[in-house]
Amino acid sequence: MSSEYTKMIIGIDDTDSREGMCTTYLCALLRDELSSFAKIIADPILVRLNPTIPYKTRGNASVALFVQCREPEKVVEHVTQRVASMACMDNENTNPGIVFITGEQFEMVRNRLSDFFRRAVKEVIAIDEAKKLACDLGLRFKIFKNGRGLIGALSACGAMLDPEWDHTYEYLAYREKDAWGTQRIVDGKSLFEADLHTYPDTWDTVDLRNDMVVCVPHSGDPVLYGIRGKDASSVEKAASFVISEPVERICTYRTNQGTDMHLIAVPKISEIEEMHSYILEGNVCCEPETIRGGHTIFPLQDDEGDTIDCAAFEPTKNFREMIRKIIPGDRVVVYGSVTEKTINIEKIKVIRLAAKYETFNPVCPSCGKRMKSAGSGQGYRCKKCGTSSSVTEKSKIERELEPGFYEVPPCARRHLAKQLLRFEKENVPVFPAR
Ligand code: ATP
Repeated sequence: MSSEYTKMIIGIDDTDSREGMCTTYLCALLRDELSSFAKIIADPILVRLNPTIPYKTRGNASVALFVQCREPEKVVEHVTQRVASMACMDNENTNPGIVFITGEQFEMVRNRLSDFFRRAVKEVIAIDEAKKLACDLGLRFKIFKNGRGLIGALSACGAMLDPEWDHTYEYLAYREKDAWGTQRIVDGKSLFEADLHTYPDTWDTVDLRNDMVVCVPHSGDPVLYGIRGKDASSVEKAASFVISEPVERICTYRTNQGTDMHLIAVPKISEIEEMHSYILEGNVCCEPETIRGGHTIFPLQDDEGDTIDCAAFEPTKNFREMIRKIIPGDRVVVYGSVTEKTINIEKIKVIRLAAKYETFNPVCPSCGKRMKSAGSGQGYRCKKCGTSSSVTEKSKIERELEPGFYEVPPCARRHLAKQLLRFEKENVPVFPAR
């Protein structure tokens, strides 16, 4: 290719609102439109950033394209115009950002943008920090309104420049415009068929245990369905089984979904901050309790003696049954995000089970029958023989739980949570939910 070609990475974020649009749709549209005057030279990127960010519309996604073109100005102009005309600007939470990075800048900005990307997945970043970084690096960018989308746009560029992160793929099918906002028509049986033929190379298309379709959203956005899996050919193979309403366009993304990139291993609870996601080991210190709304919660104590609530919320369905089998003294590792001083459990590793006992009233040494309680705090008495005892009998009972790794079902999976079927070389059994 001659030197008159320019390589360019384009990062975009924050164009949608709950009422419509989707930044990934804009990415797919631009990929198709730009291909008439630019060559797309890498898989488009769809990254999920910190899942606890309150400004997010749905899944805190941002996107990046990698193109090669003769007329970079034409690309910049086209992308800017498309974002300006298609973003939901009337919505106060929509604050688009676009970043353009040209080939000669790649090496100079790679490390700082890749660090920024990794931090945006785990931490909370201020808009001013993003603006300062873009200015310091001499990047060309365009922001609208308060420009919060610059955070995601820079992060997606960082992801495109960083070859190191674990990744999976998602095939997204988009609806024809006339259908936006109407009920989606996707044949459920064909999705179960797609899963049957491609699992475990694809995942979270359906939830077999809960007999639910997982990959079809319910909001008013342009996405018809999304198939997730380990590589592009697997997700594309699964999609070939799907019977649905007409599809306007499709796009297969490389993504950090299903990688646990958001999790920070933390040694003690005193280091935990709101709006971050953690891996924390500790001892269960009370029986799990199921509160109104069906949420099951237990406190976990770290080795310093501090405690934090860990919750399996109602949408995690049958996962709560597993959590209810935990007892005080069990040693576990929880994985999940912290909001309102509670860890929202995405998965849990049971390392060591405490012994569980059943208690019985003592046996009368004379007649061999069980004694009765003699009243509160007064031990036991055999009415017939007059014998008494203050010692309760205990016998160890079988636990209904095995040490190992357990996860929420596909219907409750968070975008970034790594599926147990993607775990290798664990020193405990893994129990993937399907
Ligand atoms: P969709 O999934 O439909 O694309 P969304 O859930 O991705 O929507 P956005 O509309 O992109 O939500 O809003 C998220 C906003 O939060 C963006 O402006 C993004 O730049 C910003 N943001 C993302 N990560 C962080 C972070 N770590 N710290 C601060 N702001 C962030």
